[in-house]
Amino acid sequence: MEDCLFCMIAEGKIPSNKLYEDDQVVAFYDINPQAKVHFLVVPKKHIQSAAALTEEDGALLGHIFAVIAKLAKEVGLDNGYRVISNVGEDAGQTVKHLHFHVLGGEKLPV
Ligand code: IMP
Repeated sequence: MEDCLFCMIAEGKIPSNKLYEDDQVVAFYDINPQAKVHFLVVPKKHIQSAAALTEEDGALLGHIFAVIAKLAKEVGLDNGYRVISNVGEDAGQTVKHLHFHVLGGEKLPV
């Protein structure tokens, strides 16, 4: 989608500190980290938020969580991590393209 920051990152039109990429997803470090380790896992398909997911996205979601687990292991989040997806205004979603924050590398506030 034009004018979508994460579509442009996924297409390589805007640089990112990339951890991983395949045909369905891209993962890169957050530009404004909220924990010692903070990366984002983003589907290449433009989906506005988790609220726009359908049953047909089930396989994609399974893939996203498999990638999250693999990357968490690779970057050493052996003691645990948090996965967050903000939906809409009240949750503070600033980029209107589905993404999963992965936070860890330290004891996170509860
Ligand atoms: P949201 O607030 O849940 O929508 O999360 C958007 C996230 O994208 C924020 O944590 C931002 O710091 C992050 N972000 C915005 N622009 C970029 C970028 O160009 N590269 C990496 N992360 C970004």
